[in-house]
Amino acid sequence: MADLKIVSILGATGSIGRSTVDLLKAHRERYAVNVLTAQGNVELLAEQARELRARKAVIGDEALFAVLKDRLAGTGIACAAGRKAIIEAAADPADWTMAAIVGMAGLEPILAAIGQGGCVAIANKEPLVAAGKLVIAEARKRGTTLLPVDSEHNAVFQVFEPENRGGIERIVLTASGGPFRTWTLAQMTQATPEQAVAHPNWSMGAKISVDSASMMNKALEVIEASYLFDMPPEKIDVLVHPQSIIHSMVEYADGSFLAQLGAPDMRTPIANALGWPGRIATSGLRLDLAALKRLDFETLDSARFPAVGLAYDCLRAGPGACLALNAANEVAVQAFLDRKIGFLQIVDTVRAVLDFTKFEQLADLPGIISFDQAVRQAAKSYILSEAASEKVNR
Ligand code: NAD
Ligand code: MG
Repeated sequence: MADLKIVSILGATGSIGRSTVDLLKAHRERYAVNVLTAQGNVELLAEQARELRARKAVIGDEALFAVLKDRLAGTGIACAAGRKAIIEAAADPADWTMAAIVGMAGLEPILAAIGQGGCVAIANKEPLVAAGKLVIAEARKRGTTLLPVDSEHNAVFQVFEPENRGGIERIVLTASGGPFRTWTLAQMTQATPEQAVAHPNWSMGAKISVDSASMMNKALEVIEASYLFDMPPEKIDVLVHPQSIIHSMVEYADGSFLAQLGAPDMRTPIANALGWPGRIATSGLRLDLAALKRLDFETLDSARFPAVGLAYDCLRAGPGACLALNAANEVAVQAFLDRKIGFLQIVDTVRAVLDFTKFEQLADLPGIISFDQAVRQAAKSYILSEAASEKVNR
């Protein structure tokens, strides 16, 4: 019992959360589960809490508290509901926390998890993009280890030699190119939410699937890499690699490229973070290079996928611009999923919002939250005004 690692999952019912639960079930002898959280899927949350004998389950939607209590009656598992309860649960001591909430909603839970001192495995990239400086500074201050889970960043983490930082020429983030890699702009104009979420290699939540289709996901990842590995934008490159086998690389001054390879299965980077600094087994997909025969690479077509260029502009403009890119994108992706705007209008909206926004200095958490809200409001107004002017033009 004594050497059980105590773990919590924020966003347990999502794609990353479910894969993490799978790994915990396969390694029951090593882990004890503290808290599981979810926003709305109360049935799955209760099932996961029972299966893993969690200490506590927290549902974000307060209207579902009675259901959660009912489903966990007689188990001895504690229940709570609401946003405050999620943040409090994240602050509850755990040796390892998986941050797998989607979007900026994960920022305060991540900060709370960092504050309690255990390792924090970060899949939830948006808070890093929008508030990377604050997140990294808090982790340094508390001595908390951040373990990258995004497959590219986990790959870089595995091949990055901190002691040879000076000899690192660049980080190369690979990109599958998403479901529209070979589509023309004319075809993309007509793309539906169903087509955008159908990723060729990965099965993921709706928001990141749309981001992969627009390549805004790679834009977010360039910014994420810059904060996680403290690298300037000119030392981060993007390379299209349709098979998603090489998850990313680091190029050193002596000409060596160190790459991490694996089947496209998030259980591998999650297991890497869960087992760190050791290695644990997964039953996930395995790589068969002989069957694969070849690995392909392409340069990114920035005319069809302008999102990645915006990330470099934002990194040069500063943290306020990175926050605005993320906030405008979250609003635009939701509008696309709600069929209020077309696919190409996602990146158009982000670009327009970046053009007319005056970037604020982000001094602290309240400043970050209020600027995030202001940019979201501006993005919503822009989408409404575009819809109105389209009607006038028709
Ligand atoms: P998902 O939509 O499948 O799951 C999101 C989880 O967060 C769910 O448990 C949901 O209940 C919870 N949640 C949603 N909104 C919330 C809110 N407002 N407050 C609290 N909890 C909330 O998403 P996912 O695909 O698992 O992705 C999670 C994060 O990991 C995202 O930031 C994504 O970019 C990142 N990521 C995902 C993958 C992947 O393969 N899915 C890969 C790399 C990075
Ligand atoms: Mg990724």
